[in-house]
Amino acid sequence: MKLMVVIPCYNEEQVLPETAKRLQAKMEQLIGGGLCGKDSRVLLVDDGSKDKTWELIAALHEENPLFEGLKLSRNRGHQNALLAGLMTARRHCDVSISMDADLQDDIDAVDRFLEEYEKGCDVVYGVRNKRKSDTFFKRRTALLFYKLMKGLGVDITYNHADYRLMSLRALDALGEFREVNLFLRGLAPLVGFQTGVVYYDRSERFAGESKYPFKKMLAFAVDGVTSFSVKPLRLITALGIIIFVISLLMLIYTLVSWIVGRAVSGWASTLASIWMIGGIQLLCLGVIGEYIGKIYSETKRRPRFIVERYLNEEKADPIVDE
Ligand code: UDP
Ligand code: MG
Repeated sequence: MKLMVVIPCYNEEQVLPETAKRLQAKMEQLIGGGLCGKDSRVLLVDDGSKDKTWELIAALHEENPLFEGLKLSRNRGHQNALLAGLMTARRHCDVSISMDADLQDDIDAVDRFLEEYEKGCDVVYGVRNKRKSDTFFKRRTALLFYKLMKGLGVDITYNHADYRLMSLRALDALGEFREVNLFLRGLAPLVGFQTGVVYYDRSERFAGESKYPFKKMLAFAVDGVTSFSVKPLRLITALGIIIFVISLLMLIYTLVSWIVGRAVSGWASTLASIWMIGGIQLLCLGVIGEYIGKIYSETKRRPRFIVERYLNEEKADPIVDE
C-alpha cells in the first residue's frame, strides 16, 4: 500500500527543515514496520511562498526521493493548496494523509490512522483532544464556529481540522466535487463511505507564526457557512415576516392614535425605526450578496489551482484541475 502524506506549505522556511527531519524518521519507522509500502512518499505543496520554501523542498527532493514537491503558480490559500496535493496523490498512491507543515498535529497518530484504514475505513478524521496550546481567543472563536455550523445544520466533525486520511476511492469521490469555494472539512462527510476517528493532542507551532490571522479565519468561517447551508437566507425570510407583523401592529397603533387625535409626537420612535429597518435591510442584502458572490465565482469555473512544477522520481507530469 502506497501512502502519500500531503502537506501544504506557505512561507514555512522556518519549520520545514525540522518537519522534514521528523517526517523522514516517521516514514522510515512506518515503512520498516510494514504499515505502508516502501514506495510511500511525502508530498510538499508550495503554495506560492515568498521565502525559501520551494528551494528547501527542491533540496529535500534532491537528497531523498521520499520527498516530492509540488509548486503552485501562486498563492491560492490553504484549502486550494491541499486540494492540489490531494488531486496529485490521487494519481500516485493508494491512500493519503493530509497535515499541516508546522506539525501541530501529532504525527505519531499516523499509525492509528493506518490501523483504521486497514479496518476498512475510507475516511479517517483526526480530532483534537483538547486545545490547551491554542490561545484563549482562538479556542473560543473555534468553539463558536463549530456551534454555529451545527446550528445551521452543517455536518462537520467537532475539533477536526485538516488532519485526515482519505483512501483512493474517497479521493476520487472528492475529485467529483467541482466547487470553487473550497471547504474541505465540510466536503469530506459528503463523500460518505465508512469513516473512523483518531484522537490526538495538538501541540504548539514550534517555529514561525500562524498563517491564519483573524481576518483569514473569519473569511474561512463565512465560506464554510455559505458553502454548505442556506439557512441564513431562511433566517432573513423569518426576520422579514416578524418585521412585517410588527409593522401591521404599528399601522393599527398609528391609525388609532390619529383617530383619537393624539398626533405629532414620537420623533424618537420614527427615527429609531428608520435606522433599525435600514440596518436590518443592509444586513440582509449583505447575506444575500454573499451567496450571489458564491454563485458568481462558481459559474466562472476558474481552475482551483495551477501547478507550475512537480518534482517526483517517476517524472510524472504535473496534474491539472480538470
Ligand atoms: N497555508 C497554505 N497557504 C496559505 C496559508 C497557510 O498552504 O495561504 C498552510 C500553512 O503552511 C500550514 C497550514 O496551511 O501548513 C496551516 O496554517 P497555519 O499552521 O498557519 O494555521 P493555524 O494552525 O494557525 O490554524
Ligand atoms: Mg498551525
